[in-house]
Amino acid sequence: MPHTTNSTCPKQPVIQALFGGTFDPIHYGHLQPVETLAYQTSLKQVILLPNHVPPHRPQPEATAQQRLEMVQLAVQDNPLFTVDKRELERTTPSYTIDTLESFRQELGHEQPLAFIIGQDALLSLHTWHRWQELLSLCHLLVCARPGYQTQFSTTEMQQWLTEHRVCAPNQLGNQPNGYIYLADTPLLPISATEIRQRRQQGLSCDDLLPPSVQKYIDSQGLYRQ
Ligand code: ATP
Repeated sequence: MPHTTNSTCPKQPVIQALFGGTFDPIHYGHLQPVETLAYQTSLKQVILLPNHVPPHRPQPEATAQQRLEMVQLAVQDNPLFTVDKRELERTTPSYTIDTLESFRQELGHEQPLAFIIGQDALLSLHTWHRWQELLSLCHLLVCARPGYQTQFSTTEMQQWLTEHRVCAPNQLGNQPNGYIYLADTPLLPISATEIRQRRQQGLSCDDLLPPSVQKYIDSQGLYRQ
């Protein structure tokens, strides 16, 4: 009888992963680190969640519909990603805790659920609505981002990180929530702010975002003023 690894290896639970953002516009700094992270942590799928009314920052320049269309174009040929519109359909601020509660209602409390953020977002996590409850609903997977400290500025937050951090990604499947994983992802010095500024100045953004998104931005005349 042929040997099959499936018959001997315990099955790892599937981790459902979410990646929220304003995506004004979506760029390679979002996509490439998350693809590497997905490989490192064996994620089968990442759900992109464009937010409607971001609570922590100025309102986006592109409309919700335009940001959604850019996200859809960026990942249309990439089976790792799907797009979920639930934050866009809310008219209230897009609090991550509400989104996680909504996913937990669908998935139940046993399935591992992860929320992906960049290092900058980790450093400001203590400003998020009900941030202390996030780990009771999900794991946090953190992508490296250049230009940001790798440590918290307060000992309280650094201690919180140490308490929850796991270094082996295969631990993430062992429980449904509660861990923080700092991923070793490529450092891409790209931000949507820079893209919007370069567009205003008439500079090329060729290496910063997918050509399909670039074409869409041109056709809609976005970020020109
Ligand atoms: P803006 O410049 O308009 O503030 P942004 O480029 O930071 O936007 P967001 O949509 O606000 O993009 O970010 C969504 C998520 O992606 C956040 O968790 C952020 O930390 C992460 N992220 C954005 N750019 C990068 C990058 N270059 N490397 C790693 N993570 C990133």
